[in-house]
Amino acid sequence: MTKSNEAGWNLDNSYARLPESLYSSAKPTPVNSPELVILNNQLAASLGLIVQQLQSENGVEVFAGNEVLEGGSPLAQAYAGHQFGHFTMLGDGRAVLLGEQITPQGERFDIQLKGSGRTPYSRGGDGRAALGPMLREYIISEAMHALGIPTTRSLAVVTSGESIIRETELPGAILTRIAASHLRVGTFQYVSRWGTEEELRALADYTIERHYPEIKEDENRYLSLLQEVIKCQAELIAKWQLVGFIHGVMNTDNMAISGETIDYGPCAFMDTFDPATVFSSIDRQGRYAYGNQPIIAGWNLARFAEALLPLLDDDQDRAIEIAQEQISGVNDLYNSNWLAGMRAKLGLFNEEKEDEALIENLLKLMDKHDADYTNTFRALTFDNANDMDLFDTEEFAQWQEQWQARRGRQEESKASSDELMRNSNPAVIPRNHRVEEALEDAVENGDYSVMERLLDVLSNPYAHSAEQEEYATVPELKVPYRTYCGT
Ligand code: AMP
Ligand code: MG
Repeated sequence: MTKSNEAGWNLDNSYARLPESLYSSAKPTPVNSPELVILNNQLAASLGLIVQQLQSENGVEVFAGNEVLEGGSPLAQAYAGHQFGHFTMLGDGRAVLLGEQITPQGERFDIQLKGSGRTPYSRGGDGRAALGPMLREYIISEAMHALGIPTTRSLAVVTSGESIIRETELPGAILTRIAASHLRVGTFQYVSRWGTEEELRALADYTIERHYPEIKEDENRYLSLLQEVIKCQAELIAKWQLVGFIHGVMNTDNMAISGETIDYGPCAFMDTFDPATVFSSIDRQGRYAYGNQPIIAGWNLARFAEALLPLLDDDQDRAIEIAQEQISGVNDLYNSNWLAGMRAKLGLFNEEKEDEALIENLLKLMDKHDADYTNTFRALTFDNANDMDLFDTEEFAQWQEQWQARRGRQEESKASSDELMRNSNPAVIPRNHRVEEALEDAVENGDYSVMERLLDVLSNPYAHSAEQEEYATVPELKVPYRTYCGT
C-alpha cells in the first residue's frame, strides 16, 4: 500500500473515459514548501479519509499537487461560457481534477485542486491562486453547506511557499475542492459549439448516469435532463435569495449541472435589503445584482437548453419548441420554491392566496427603511422587534398585525410555527466584516484562530446560541463593501 492510500484515498476517474476533446491530461505543478493551513476534519471523515494521515508530510504533498494519487488520471476540463453575456472558450486554467473519490458508502466526488499551476487552458494566466481568495472560498462554501444550500465544499488549503504576482505580491495557495461533479452549463456549450453530436450525446449520457440515473429509461431522457437541471437550479437560486447570498459572477461556466453552488469569487451576503445590491467590483452594470439572480439563472438555463437542441428532437424546429416550453416554466418554478421558503421564514405552514402580497409588503418596508435582511427575520423569529428603524414605524405595526392574524389562521400551534421560523431563519451568515477580519489575521499574521472560530460559529447557523450573538451585528459602513474577482 502506498503512503497516500493509507490516508484512505480511493480514486477513479470516470471523466477520463469521456471523449478526449472534453479534457486535457494535466498534472499539478509541484511547489517547494507546502504547508497545510486548514483541513476540514468532518468532511475528510465523510469521504473515508483519515485525518491524521492527511496531516502528515505525505498527506500534505497530495493537497499541494506534489504527489499524484493512484487511480486518478489527473486532467483539466474543457469548457466554454458566457461571461457577462459574451461567449468564450475557457477550461480549467488553474485547476486540476485529481480524480473522483469513491467513498466507503460508494458515493463519487470530484477531488479538484484549485491554484495548482498552468494547464493547456491557462491562456495568459499563471495557473495559481492567492491565499486570501482560497480561504474565502473555504469559509463561504462551508457556511453555505451549513445553511443547507447545495454547494461544492472545501477539504483543505495549503500555502505553496511561493509568491504570486497580482497587483502586489501575494502568498500563493491551493484549495482542495470537493464537488458532486464539475460539469457546467459551459461544458455543454463547449461540446455543442465545437464537438460532434456523438460527443454531445456521450456527455449528456454521462451526466444522466452520474446525477440523474432515475431518468435513464425515460422516453426522451434528454428532455428529462433539461427538466431536472431546471428543477434543481430553480431550487438552488431560491435558496440563495432566501438567505441573501449574492454569487457575483453567474456566468454560464459557473453554473453546475448538479445544482451545487460553484466558483466562489466575489460573492458575499447582503446586509441591508436592497434588490440592487452588487458587491463585485467588476459588475458595473449590476447584471448579477441580488434581485437579478433569478432572471440570470433563467438566461443561463436557456443557454443550456440551446446546447441540448440536437438531442431534444431530430426535427430542430420541434426541438426549439420543446426547449422554449421548458424555459418558459423556469420563472414559475423558481417562484414557487421561493414562496415556499418565504412562508417557512414567516412561520406559515399552509398556503393562502394573499401570502405573496404579505411577503412583498414586508420586503418593501425593509427596502424603504434600510433594514438588515437577516436580522429582520431573526427579530421576527424571536419576537424582539426593536433596535431597528423599521420596527418603530406605524407601517410595520400594521404589517405585523396582519402577519399575526395570518399565523393564527392555520392549524399548527404557535410553538411549531416558532420552531419552523427558527429552522428557516439563520442566526448568523458570513458577515462581510467578519470574513475580512478572519482573512486578514490568517493572511497577514498567519494566525488562523479568528477564522477557525468564525467557521465554528457558522457551522450551525440555526442553533441561535448565545455565542453567535456577536456575529450577528452589522457595522455602519462609510464606504460600500466591495469584492474582487478571486484570482
Ligand atoms: P473564474 O473567474 O474563476 O470562474 O475563472 C474564469 C476562467 O479564467 C477559467 O477558465 C479559469 O480557469 C481562468 N483563470 C482564472 N484565474 C486564472 C489564473 N490565475 N491562471 C490561469 N487561468 C485562470
Ligand atoms: Mg469559473
